[in-house]
Amino acid sequence: MTRRVLVINSGSSSLKYQVVDADDGTALAVGLVERIGATGGRLSHTTAGQRHVVEVDVPDHAAAMAAMAQAFAGYGPELADAGLVAVGHRVVQGGEAFARSVRIDAEVLDTVIGLSDLAPLHNPANAAGIRVAMAQFPDLPHVAVFDTAFHLTVPPVAHTYALDRKIAAAHRIRRYGFHGTSHAYVSRAAAAFLGREPDQTNVIVLHLGNGASACAVRGGISVDTSMGLTPLEGLVMGTRTGDIDPAVVFHLARTAGMDIDAIDDVFNKRSGVLGLSGRQDMRDLVDAAECGDDAARLALEVYCYRLRKYLGAYAAVLGRVDAVVFTAGVGENSAPVRAGALAGLESLGIELDPEANQVRSSEPRDIATPGSRVRVLVIPTNEELEIARQALEVVDSRG
Ligand code: AMP
Repeated sequence: MTRRVLVINSGSSSLKYQVVDADDGTALAVGLVERIGATGGRLSHTTAGQRHVVEVDVPDHAAAMAAMAQAFAGYGPELADAGLVAVGHRVVQGGEAFARSVRIDAEVLDTVIGLSDLAPLHNPANAAGIRVAMAQFPDLPHVAVFDTAFHLTVPPVAHTYALDRKIAAAHRIRRYGFHGTSHAYVSRAAAAFLGREPDQTNVIVLHLGNGASACAVRGGISVDTSMGLTPLEGLVMGTRTGDIDPAVVFHLARTAGMDIDAIDDVFNKRSGVLGLSGRQDMRDLVDAAECGDDAARLALEVYCYRLRKYLGAYAAVLGRVDAVVFTAGVGENSAPVRAGALAGLESLGIELDPEANQVRSSEPRDIATPGSRVRVLVIPTNEELEIARQALEVVDSRG
C-alpha cells in the first residue's frame, strides 16, 4: 500500500505544502499560499504537471488552510483518496526539548509555542499552521519535524558560547543550528552514494540556499554546525551577515543611534551578498562579477572565502573527511561557487575536477578528480521527503 504524507511548512506570511509519496519520493502535489494576513493573497498548486494559480483572500492561517483544501478539491488529488497516513509539520526551533520528531499533542504544541522567544519569526507561525491543520485533518496523526533536532548531538564543546554561564542558562543561549532535516537527508544520501554505512562515514555538508549553513557529520551524527542561537551565525548568506564581531551591534547603537530592531533588520535582511553587491541571487551575482562589477566580485570572494574557512575548521574537527557535499539552490547549481569554495584546498586532500564541476544535472554526482582523497559530491536536498519519512517513522513507532 502506498503511504503518503501531507507536508506542511507554515511561515508567518506563507503556507507551503506537498503531498509526498514516502516510498518512492515523488511529490503528487506542490503548493504555496502567499501573502497571508495581507492583501493580494495568491495560491499556486501544481499537480499532474499542471500549475494552477488563483487569487485568494487569506486574512489568517485558517483561511490559507481552507484555500489549500479547496485547491485539492478543485485540482486534485482528492485528499480523501490520496492514501494520506500522516501530516508532517516543519518546526524551526525545537530547543533542547526535541532531539527527534514527535507526534503532536497539546503538550508538544505548548512546548513549541514556549520556544517562541528563541524563534519569534518562526515558531508562532509554525504553531498556527499546526493548529489549523489539526482542525482540518482531525483523524490523521500530526508529526513535528524540527530544524534543530539533528544538531542536538553537537557536543557542549561546540555548542557552548563563552558567555556568562548564568545569563546563558537563564535565557537558553547556546548554539542550536538549523537546516537539520536537509543535513540529515543529504549526509545519509552521501553515504549511500559512496556505498558506505552512514555510521562509518564522515562528511562536511554545505547547505547553500538563500540561507546557508555548514555541518560536520561524523558517523551520521552532527558534531558541529555553523548556525547558532539563530540562523544568523556562520556562512555569508543571501541577506545575512553570517559571522560578525558582536561589537558591531554596540558600535552601531552608539555611533549611528540605531535601535535593536533596525540593527536586526540590517544584519538579517540587508547584509550578506545583497548588502555587499546589491544582488541577492547567486546567478545575478556571478554574472555581474564576470562582467567586471567590483562589488559583485568582492561579494563572491567573501562568500567563498568564508566557505573555505569553515571547510578547514570542520576538516580539523572531523580528522578524516570522506566527502564534502554541496546542496540546496546555490550548492546544487553554482559551479563558480563550488570552485571558489574549494580553491587551494588540495593540501586537505580536496581536488575538484573542473570539467565535472561544470556539468549541469539534477542527479547526485561526484565532481572530484579520480585521485582526490576527499570526494566532492553534489546531492540535491529534499527536505519535504525527509519530513515525510520522519513523520512515517514516528507513526510506525507507535504501532
Ligand atoms: P534555496 O534557498 O535552496 O531555494 O536556494 C535559493 C537560491 O539558490 C537563490 O537565491 C539563488 O541564489 C540560488 N540559485 C538557484 N538556482 C541557481 C542557479 N542555477 N545558479 C546559481 N544559483 C542558483
